[in-house]
Amino acid sequence: MTPRSPCNLCGAREAQEVARLDRHGKPLATVICRKCGLVWSDPVPTEETLKKFYAEEYRLQYKGVSRPTPEHVYRAGKVAAQRFRHLKKLLKPGSVIIDVGSGGGEFVYLMRRLDFDAQGVQPHEGYARYAQEELGIPVHLGFVRDVRLPPASCHMVTIYHALEHMASPSEVLEHVREWLEPRGWLVIEVPNVEATCQSPGHRFHRAHLYSFNPASLRRLGEKTGFRPHRTDLSPDGGNITAIFAKENLGSIRTEIPGNCERVMGVIRRHTLLRHFASSHPYARPLRKLQGRLQEKWATRRFGSGKELLDAIRSRELPAHFP
Ligand SMILES: [Zn+2]
Repeated sequence: MTPRSPCNLCGAREAQEVARLDRHGKPLATVICRKCGLVWSDPVPTEETLKKFYAEEYRLQYKGVSRPTPEHVYRAGKVAAQRFRHLKKLLKPGSVIIDVGSGGGEFVYLMRRLDFDAQGVQPHEGYARYAQEELGIPVHLGFVRDVRLPPASCHMVTIYHALEHMASPSEVLEHVREWLEPRGWLVIEVPNVEATCQSPGHRFHRAHLYSFNPASLRRLGEKTGFRPHRTDLSPDGGNITAIFAKENLGSIRTEIPGNCERVMGVIRRHTLLRHFASSHPYARPLRKLQGRLQEKWATRRFGSGKELLDAIRSRELPAHFP
């Protein structure tokens, strides 16, 4: 079939249908590129449509609140501490770190407490204002394209669970590349389209415009001027974290032979029957419930998000870097 939007990775207009419904059973056409295996919602919405969606509605629809609750801050703060531990070998004291899709600003806040010059980029107004006002951190309200930074001024750009929401991942990476110093680091985390930890019907989400596997994510980085440094999967296989170094690799072949077949094979084999025969449907809700109870318990003593994050910092992060 010919998709309505061309492939954002290789530019091909040769796709195959993957799904017709989203995780809530509503119509959502999802296609896969025959040439490279990138998966997207077809057609991809325009940036104007997205702007409206992000600025007003996204968090309301997605999490049920327009500002982060203490439980969200706690969860995001714990994740932010893990991210620091994962990245610390790549960091230089006091360096500039731009966190694209900074949410409530938890990662930026904790990094600033370690004396990094960390700043956020966040299109959702409620979350951006929360981070600016409650946490007192610098957040650029808007999309990546709207942010102007001096060229080659950043040591690291992080994009955690945000690239899959953007109209053109290629353009976003080309844009953030300009911010980075030579050999600067780009860190991307996205859901893994090959994940089998969730129910098969839960794979596609209206807000996720693109779905990657490790090969398509790496190739996207290579195409936009980055050398893959390392790629990790989360323990449940649900997320891909890829680290890239800014480096021009010259002309890159964007097609990935066999990747479409590989992704389709994983999706086809992940049937409801197999899913319920695995431990995931039983262990996952239990882990989630345990997590929620722990969050309620852990957050009950704190008056503000800042106090919560400071508590996480004193327990989980060093007093100084390095
Ligand atoms: Zn493609």
